[in-house]
Amino acid sequence: MTEFDPHNTIESKDKDLDGIIRPQELEDFTGQKEIVSNLNIYIKAAKMRGEALDHVLFHGPPGLGKTTLAHIIANEMGVNMKITSGPVLDKPGDLAGLLTSLETGDVLFIDEIHRLSPEVEEYLYSAMEDYVIDIMIDKGPGARSVRISLNPFTLVGATTRSGLLTAPLRERFGITCPLEYYDTSELIRIVKRSSRILKVTIDDEASMEIALRSRGTPRIANALLKRVRDFAQVMGDGHIDLDIARYALNKLKIDTRGLDSIDNKILRTIISTFKGGPVGANTIATAISEDQGTFEEVYEPFLIKEGFIVRTQRGRIATEMAYKHLGMEAELEANKTENGTLF
Ligand code: ADP
Repeated sequence: MTEFDPHNTIESKDKDLDGIIRPQELEDFTGQKEIVSNLNIYIKAAKMRGEALDHVLFHGPPGLGKTTLAHIIANEMGVNMKITSGPVLDKPGDLAGLLTSLETGDVLFIDEIHRLSPEVEEYLYSAMEDYVIDIMIDKGPGARSVRISLNPFTLVGATTRSGLLTAPLRERFGITCPLEYYDTSELIRIVKRSSRILKVTIDDEASMEIALRSRGTPRIANALLKRVRDFAQVMGDGHIDLDIARYALNKLKIDTRGLDSIDNKILRTIISTFKGGPVGANTIATAISEDQGTFEEVYEPFLIKEGFIVRTQRGRIATEMAYKHLGMEAELEANKTENGTLF
């Protein structure tokens, strides 16, 4: 069986389902209460004034709803949205093309906005601030700059690494929304809503089990629900009860705390190879053959939030809970004796 990777394994058919499951209105959007209620006010106010909504920055780990909220903003404002991403937008000309195609009030969504090239980012400043861009025409002695006016628009940026945004870019967003991991009751609501849309029946205990193992992340909750549904269909009558949910989740190697095989590998590596830490992010990433950015953006925030690792100035340290979770009590004693830095 191929390993289940809830972070980026989305097959094309699942992608279609994704579109159906994605909430379309603020009212449908579960959780992130403060962000939703503030956005509701800002959207209403902008509509009352007949203006474009101020630029919005969403930041937080993947799968928490940044793209979904961008769609919702466009929907609630009754405007069109163009979608692009930092790494794709590598030439100022591409950005100019996009910006000039926007109609009044439209939304331009830039995912992974921390990966914009500095050159493209410069162009964005005047576009965001004054709705103009200065484009260089020709090269060499004949080069001249032409100013183009844009329709008022809303830039919605999303990033998993707000720390990597430059200050001038960050300051140009009037609305900044930090997305948080979801709690279990919110994830239960999301699982139940998605199963209704997918027309699959599910017991309360089974929704809870999926919610508990979803790393606080709606995208993972939905991905797990779809895979559990497969097991229920093939091995049962299609109904999802606690037994089938547990069976499927174990097959998918998602443990009872929602940690997947890579999370567990990270903890085991810190404990066994680095004697519990402290150890740097770069070293951990290399040891588990992952990219450092992925480690820091995707895995580490959840492991810290759940109390499995702590971050100190000297590096990451595995907590007692991590040892106990992995049944590595013997290593706990050994590492404690060796370095007194354990929590
Ligand atoms: P991000 O852009 O932060 O990586 P997305 O907006 O793409 O995350 O969300 C991932 C998936 O999770 C989407 O398919 C969406 O259906 C679902 N989702 C995210 N947030 C919510 C929510 N609050 N309620 C219901 N579903 C959600």
